[in-house]
Amino acid sequence: CGIVGYVGSEQAAPILLEGLTRLEYRGYDSAGIAVLTGSGPKVAHAVGRVRDLQAALPKRLSGKVGIGHTRWATHGPATEANAHPHRSADGRIMLVHNGIIDNATVLRTELEADGVQFTSDTDTEVLAHLIGRSEAPALEDRVIQALQRITGTYAVAVLDAQLPDRIVVARQGSPLIIGIGDREMFVGSDASALVRHTSQVVHLDDGELAIVAAGGYETFTADRARTSKQPEELTLRA
Ligand code: GLU
Repeated sequence: CGIVGYVGSEQAAPILLEGLTRLEYRGYDSAGIAVLTGSGPKVAHAVGRVRDLQAALPKRLSGKVGIGHTRWATHGPATEANAHPHRSADGRIMLVHNGIIDNATVLRTELEADGVQFTSDTDTEVLAHLIGRSEAPALEDRVIQALQRITGTYAVAVLDAQLPDRIVVARQGSPLIIGIGDREMFVGSDASALVRHTSQVVHLDDGELAIVAAGGYETFTADRARTSKQPEELTLRA
């Protein structure tokens, strides 16, 4: 029920955990993070509180890009396997999602018939596989192609293990904001996840996507038309 993301020059894991703790008020049953480390992507999940996730983290989790999630289960029980982030079959794509994919059952049946093995009961996992299977060269185009196949609501944040400098985010019906820092950027479901770090935010609109990198962000629509956003000043401070 909450999303966080970080890309910059600090260690991502503590920032993600702190952001998730601040989103706890939204309610959740499990949590997870993914960090792109020098020795590949690391993903950790836990049922229960963010502090349970903290206890389950691998010892070496050094990396400056990552995403995190608190889950309010809609498809499949609150288990470690169903906790986000979810991954594509090749492990390259990692994704967190808030919302509900209405046509997940149809898509799952189609993907399974094509040999894809699912590791969770979630609606979200279909999206990880669809992005992973897209042949578009750019991550944002792979995300757009995958999103065009789904109906429902989403806020998503996507990592590509081979592109450790960016997070691609998209929104339709679930909130998502970008926090602007100095050579660092934040992603959150709402301002409470970001207030400790920045007071400059951009609200994604429904149907918008963004590439978020340490040095800046770019927002656009599914037809790749750039949108221009005016950053807003948060008045609420931590
Ligand atoms: N529908 C997804 C799931 O059940 C996401 C739920 C959420 O928004 O946390 O895993």
